[in-house]
This record gives sequence, structure tokens and C-alpha cells, in this order.
Amino acid sequence: MSKLPHILVIEDETTLAGVIKDYLVDAGMTVTLLHEGTTATQTILGAKPDLVVLDIMLPGKDGITICREVRAQSEVPIIMETAKVDEIDRLLGLELGADDYLCKPFSPRELVARIKAVLRRTGISRSDQEEGSAEARLQLDEEKWLTRLDGQIIKLTRREFQLLLVLHKSGGRVYSRSQLLDAVFRDDADVFDRTIDSHIKNLRNKLKQVAPDYDPIRSVYGVGYAFEL
Ligand code: CA
Repeated sequence: MSKLPHILVIEDETTLAGVIKDYLVDAGMTVTLLHEGTTATQTILGAKPDLVVLDIMLPGKDGITICREVRAQSEVPIIMETAKVDEIDRLLGLELGADDYLCKPFSPRELVARIKAVLRRTGISRSDQEEGSAEARLQLDEEKWLTRLDGQIIKLTRREFQLLLVLHKSGGRVYSRSQLLDAVFRDDADVFDRTIDSHIKNLRNKLKQVAPDYDPIRSVYGVGYAFEL
């Protein structure tokens, strides 16, 4: 990235916000801080940052509402901060469209790593659409239901194709098993969370048969799956 990435941090604990800012600036980012929620949506849409770090508990308006409002109009990468680890599954269930979730208390180092990962993912998917480069290993043709890896056609079942498509399109977002069930098995009553696991396993094996080094599906412990570029 040639210009410094601009990160908007919306966090009402001013001390924490200050520490975050120091770390991000050290990591080569430009940082804007906002300490309340009321003006957050318009600030995000107006400032067009490269990424937003968004706390959930904020004075004025909560992060969940802000995330929804922003997603209606913008695909800007969002990392949500939550106070509880067991809240993450509930948040995923709300389908907010956030790119990652971080549990408080977190180390600023961890936040820097997550920001870089999300920027890399979203940056890559953007340049791929422009240049057709890095993502070209895996190609999914939605109209023909065709999967190509390194130019070779892979035979996938309809479910496997749908699963791969949902994950692949998401730009690295984490999906819970129940979200994947909803997305892929909507018309099928007798499926369980484990069904997703076995389809993912088959999918991975099929991809590995063509390219042993290629394993883009990331298991997120206790939560579900994501597609990693
Ligand atoms: Ca807060």
C-alpha cells in the first residue's frame, strides 16, 4: 500500500483509544479517534477511512446499530470490539457484516495484527477485481457451477459449491455453522451443524487433490469457518 492506511477508531474509553492510536501510528497507519456513537455513522461515511475499529458499547449510539447503518451504504472493513468472548457467536448471528471481532481486553499488538490481516484480505480482493491476479488460483463460475483451481476443473457437489461460494465471496468474514446452514441448506430440514463440517472436509480434500499446498478454508475455533486469501 503506497499511502498510509487511514484507520478510524471509535472507542469511548479515551485512555484505551490513546494507546491504540500510538500503536497504530507506530505500525505506519494514520489514525482518527472518535469517542461517541451519535455522529459515528456519518463520520465513517464522510471520512471514508480504509478501516474502522468499532466498539459496541458507546455513548449515544451502540456499535451494532452503527455497523448496520454503515453496511447499508458502505463495504468499508469493520473490526468490532466486544466485551465478552461469548458474545461473538450472538454477534455473528446478527449478521452485521463486520470483518472481524476482537474481544476486550485485547493487546494493541493483537489489534495491529488483525487490522493488517483485514487490510490484506480486503486489499487483495479489491485489486483482484481490477487486475485478476492473486485470487486467480481459484475461480468460481456461478452461472455454470464450475470450479477451477490452477486452471483445472474440480468436481464439487451442489452443496460443496454453494459453501465454497458463500465463503469465497465474503472477503474473509467468519461464518458460524448455523449461518452456513441457513445459506446453503435452507431447503433441507434434516441437517445439523456437523453436516457443515463433513462438507468442509470433503471440500478441502478435493481442493488438495489438485493443489496440495492450497487450503484457503480457515477453521475458527468454537465459531465456524472463513475463507482466507
Ligand atoms: Ca465502550
